[in-house]
Amino acid sequence: MAHLERIMISKRKLAALRERNRKRKAEWWARYNGYLAGPVWAELRARILKRDKYRCRKCGAVAVQVHHLTYRRVFHESPEDLLSLCIPCHEAEHEK
Ligand SMILES: [Zn+2]
Ligand SMILES: [Zn+2]
Repeated sequence: MAHLERIMISKRKLAALRERNRKRKAEWWARYNGYLAGPVWAELRARILKRDKYRCRKCGAVAVQVHHLTYRRVFHESPEDLLSLCIPCHEAEHEK
């Protein structure tokens, strides 16, 4: 019985942790989507595309998107964190 109680408590804790995690993720995504829609990203994205001469860094096709190699510095990225890609290559990156 004591054992069972412990399991139930940990399940409740787990549910609380999951809920907190879900909220944090939702908040992160809201912030990230806002960032992607804002002027800071627009300028940075334009700078990266220009740096890469509007070419996909994987296949050389016309690049239309900028990919994050890392999210470590998200919201204040370094240029080396970002890569210009075409849509198929970008989708392939995210399917990995
Ligand atoms: Zn490509
Ligand atoms: Zn990406």
